[in-house]
Amino acid sequence: MTARPNYDLTTIRQQDLKHHFHPFTDFASFKDTGSMIFTGAEGAYVVDGEGRRYLDGIGGLWCVNIGYGREEMAEAMAQQARQMVYYSSFGHHTSVPAAQLAAKIAELAPGSLNHVFYGSGGSVANDTAVRMIHFYFNRLGQRSKKKIITRHDGYHGSTYLTMSMTGVAFDHIGFDLVGDGLIHRVSSPNTYRRPEGMSEAEFLEHLIGEFRAKIEELGAENVAAFFAEPIQGAGGVVVPPKGYHRRMADVCREFGVLYVADEVVTAFGRLGHFFASESVFDMVPDIITSAKGLSSAYAPLSATIISDELYDVLSVPQAEGAMFTHGFTYSGHPVCCAAGLKNIEIMEREDLCGHVREVGPYFETRLKELQALPLVGDVRGSHFMLCVENVADKGTKALLAPEIAIGKRIASECQKRGVLVRPIGHLNVLSPPLTLTRQEIDVLVDALATSISVVA
Ligand code: PLP
Repeated sequence: MTARPNYDLTTIRQQDLKHHFHPFTDFASFKDTGSMIFTGAEGAYVVDGEGRRYLDGIGGLWCVNIGYGREEMAEAMAQQARQMVYYSSFGHHTSVPAAQLAAKIAELAPGSLNHVFYGSGGSVANDTAVRMIHFYFNRLGQRSKKKIITRHDGYHGSTYLTMSMTGVAFDHIGFDLVGDGLIHRVSSPNTYRRPEGMSEAEFLEHLIGEFRAKIEELGAENVAAFFAEPIQGAGGVVVPPKGYHRRMADVCREFGVLYVADEVVTAFGRLGHFFASESVFDMVPDIITSAKGLSSAYAPLSATIISDELYDVLSVPQAEGAMFTHGFTYSGHPVCCAAGLKNIEIMEREDLCGHVREVGPYFETRLKELQALPLVGDVRGSHFMLCVENVADKGTKALLAPEIAIGKRIASECQKRGVLVRPIGHLNVLSPPLTLTRQEIDVLVDALATSISVVA
């Protein structure tokens, strides 16, 4: 880890405050406190400008799966930059890593998901999926089939379209959304917050019935696709009732609706498999979108992975010459693809999926201990994607007033103890690098437990 020697932290802080418009930022507190400035990172740790070291329980933003400071990642990217930094992949051009990575992703992806469209992040991957789906149904002559169903508390990105697909109500405050009745929503499969008196089995039936009714209400001839994260992430690490995704996929098949698994967080190891859809949830979607762990955040990279069936329709030449006119300057960027390839090579060589399957249950068990604390209403998630829900009253599950900012207060106590956890409203979310050892898990969980007790 080499720190940049020639800067002055006070100047950096001022430059940042004055000129850096941060995403998803509460400017009221930001203007008082400014930013934590990170200057180094290695393994599962990040280091700030004052030299303080933190165990990163957030994994950057659910993305630094292989951990920080990997020399061979830097070398693979530098080597590609020296060799052939860029050429567009529009039309009849490609690069060695773009082709090799597509083949590798196809090998790892389930079913006939054999075709990879590259982008620069999860929002772009989901936006691309919608454009593909609309183009697909247009080509099939089913021009009315356009509506997209998503779920409350689902997160699909921050472009105009993907934020409209997102079902996190807080994220919509102050914005307009895409109109024309394009996006529709069904319930989040949140078992902790299911209706009073409903068993989990009844809740599952309720969700399936609601979805079916929604398609019937809109008319199956108008519904193109259902988008769902295998485990809802930013919406609260919501693990659905057992069998949910299979059953939702069955309804999709019945009505000719495409199923898109948004695996931007869950793919590339977080749940102990390269893709969670089939390995964990026993279903094969028509499209998987992925980003984050695909390159472990060493470079911006996403993949929209589609089935043979979709590809055959999208790629068939048309008499009038119309083609899938969609793509980005940086689709298949060689340096980003080189990062993706090396990232997967490291994951396979170190069997990081196996490691997550082995220590993930320990992580879950340790975190479940926090359930005994007065403030903790629920502890949920799976493997390296976990969350604590803090409440005012465990019996009624009532929330604390938003101005108490309980998630943030707990996160800042953790920070004092050298650990970073993510606050999302009243939640604290954990998504560390997949390399975490049992000892590091103990440090993380113990710091969180102490922090929750301190603020209670
Ligand atoms: N989909 C899911 C499930 C996500 O969690 C995110 C980001 O957190 C996105 C899509 C958007 O990805 P990006 O921020 O890379 O555009």
